[in-house]
Amino acid sequence: MPREAIFGPDVEPPEMPPENKVELTLDEERALRPQRMFEMVGQRDVYDRIEIAIQAARKRKEPLGHILFDGPPGLGKTTFAMCIPRELGVPFQIGNGATLRAPKDLVPYLTNAEEGSVLFIDEIHRMQKAVEEFLYPAMEDFRIDLTLGEGVNARTLNIHLKPFTLIGATTRTGLISAPLRDRFQMREHLDFYTNEELSEIIHRNSDKLNVEITNEASHEIASRSRGTPRLANNRLRWVRDYTDAREDGRITLDIAKKALEMAGVDIVGLDAQDRKYLDTILRVFQGGPVGVEAVAHTMNVAADTLIDEVEPFLLRSELLVRTPRGRIITVNGIRHMGGDPRNCLNAGQNFIF
Ligand code: ADP
Repeated sequence: MPREAIFGPDVEPPEMPPENKVELTLDEERALRPQRMFEMVGQRDVYDRIEIAIQAARKRKEPLGHILFDGPPGLGKTTFAMCIPRELGVPFQIGNGATLRAPKDLVPYLTNAEEGSVLFIDEIHRMQKAVEEFLYPAMEDFRIDLTLGEGVNARTLNIHLKPFTLIGATTRTGLISAPLRDRFQMREHLDFYTNEELSEIIHRNSDKLNVEITNEASHEIASRSRGTPRLANNRLRWVRDYTDAREDGRITLDIAKKALEMAGVDIVGLDAQDRKYLDTILRVFQGGPVGVEAVAHTMNVAADTLIDEVEPFLLRSELLVRTPRGRIITVNGIRHMGGDPRNCLNAGQNFIF
């Protein structure tokens, strides 16, 4: 997530001594990520199904079936994917769909995969078609077909792989082709977390960060974290820094509010980018309907960023609707932005004023 989204465009992030800046951030990031499944909060249905699949695979001494996770960023796809091999006690490798441009990029991962091990491919929807097709026999029959040479001299070499588990993660399940989707035995959708679940994550992580926090303060941070653990963690760390710098080191409701306001995070958790998106639709496009590309051009950001990072929560919280004619800001959205629904052409047409 962009730094402005955490800190707001005009707010300087707190300074740390340069020599331990990166190390501290990475260490903290790692320290906050659950290492085992029992440390994970929420997503109980998904958790239970995965736990059963793991137990069954262990009992049968067989590799776990392939799993596809989908859902907006920051909800725990990578965390699940990294906890599963630890539960199974097997090695794992991590790849990214965006860097798998040709089948040869995938070969080392597949040939290195040990029996029962896990291969995690993040952003699997970004894999090239040729790579995807190359993956089919690997997933189904643990075999790859390599073509050596060209023209009349070309030969096909079948390589047998050790049975492994593929875990894919995507923010865009709609971009995954049906043949690839169907090759995953389990397809799990991760949804936004409740404020209670986020509050529990914040409490646990404030312990890890060695900072005291009141219940009201953790609820406040949770309710401004858009149902997303990654944002809850980022916001907690910002409030912790604010408290260390300006206050006595204990996070109270008042401090949490002040720190989040300073970072440009509003009462429902929208940050500067979210509000700019709603404001662009409201002001420039009279509330919509408007295509996401037009909004992206006007804001000078990638449409993918809006689709992946901004829209899911706005849609979920009914500040925005997606129609065949384009995006429309809802009456709630207009009011949240301080506008008057009567000034919009189409906005809120399906809603009672
Ligand atoms: P994704 O892969 O879906 O983008 P991640 O798995 O990287 O999301 O999650 C982002 C961060 O949120 C993790 O580093 C972790 O600290 C936290 N997190 C995610 N899911 C959970 C969970 N179920 N319980 C506790 N913390 C979580």
